[in-house]
Amino acid sequence: MRARAICGHGARGPACFLVETDGRRFLLDLGEGPDAGARPDLSAVGRIDAILVSHGHPDHVDALDLAAVVGDPPIHATAIVRALARDARLAAARDLPAAGRTEIAGIVVETGPAGHAPGAVWIRLGGSEGLLYTGDFSREGILHPFAMPPPTRLCIADAAYGTHDRPLAEGIEALIGLARRGPLLLPAPPAGRGLEMAVVFAEAGFEVGLCPVHLRTAAVVLAHADAATTPEGRDRLAAVLARVRPLDAGSPARGVMIAAGPNAEAGTSARLAARFARSGEAAIVFTGHVAEGFAGQRLIASGRASAQRWNVHPRLCDLIALCAAIAPEAILPAFLPEDGLRELAAALPVRTIAPGAELA
Ligand SMILES: [Zn+2]
Repeated sequence: MRARAICGHGARGPACFLVETDGRRFLLDLGEGPDAGARPDLSAVGRIDAILVSHGHPDHVDALDLAAVVGDPPIHATAIVRALARDARLAAARDLPAAGRTEIAGIVVETGPAGHAPGAVWIRLGGSEGLLYTGDFSREGILHPFAMPPPTRLCIADAAYGTHDRPLAEGIEALIGLARRGPLLLPAPPAGRGLEMAVVFAEAGFEVGLCPVHLRTAAVVLAHADAATTPEGRDRLAAVLARVRPLDAGSPARGVMIAAGPNAEAGTSARLAARFARSGEAAIVFTGHVAEGFAGQRLIASGRASAQRWNVHPRLCDLIALCAAIAPEAILPAFLPEDGLRELAAALPVRTIAPGAELA
């Protein structure tokens, strides 16, 4: 068993990892971004037996059109990820269980819920002597469950936040404080924190507006509720959906408005952000990674928007808990820019792999 990053190691993304075991070769994710135009280079990878998808965010799936470069292998994704896919290749992918055990290309593959987004899973290849890939994961998910993976010898772990260790509750408190001062636009990824935000703000008594993409996503999540959320999460989401108002580019500035497009790069969030940046009717707050090359970055730089993180990746304490539970011999900390790696390596109780090195 050995693995290396094609990209996603020593940088924020995109995700793409090569795993080789027993003569079989897998790609874990094949994404684009989050910064504009960042794509994996597969020219030296060679033939692949299967591509396994951890979840449907663009930085994990938006380069699947490159599958032909590695021999057009079968793609495997969970049912919810397929149901939410914008890409025909992903929509037609083969199954990956949301939780359980299967065999792909003759290798044992186990999965469990990663707490990060609808249908997001961690993936273990080759059992306890094999490799665990966490995908993006969170132990603070409000709608999405997380199950701790079993002990595994090697680990590629989401370390996007480095040594950041503040709880999601602090971010929520700050955002609620902003919402009390006036209307708030929150650009968000619909298959992720967008629906969690809707639940939190509606339950806190705010009027919540949701764009059409969020409303469609919520319907898919409820249709796959058994795997997408907990029974409690399903009930909370269903109750909130019954009283949200539909949001479009012409909606009045009221309450908390949650619109698809985490960087205000397209759709309702782009049009509302442009409008509110001119009129000042609502504050604009970005809650995720501020990607380079999009409207969000320009709005923050010009002082017309601000940033307040809503945790969807592990804190330092979550990474330490992961290391304690799975006791890996070595870990590849993924999605963290190189300048944060040294500090994280010093804080983790496990040997970490440097960018460019192999995990074996
Ligand atoms: Zn993600």
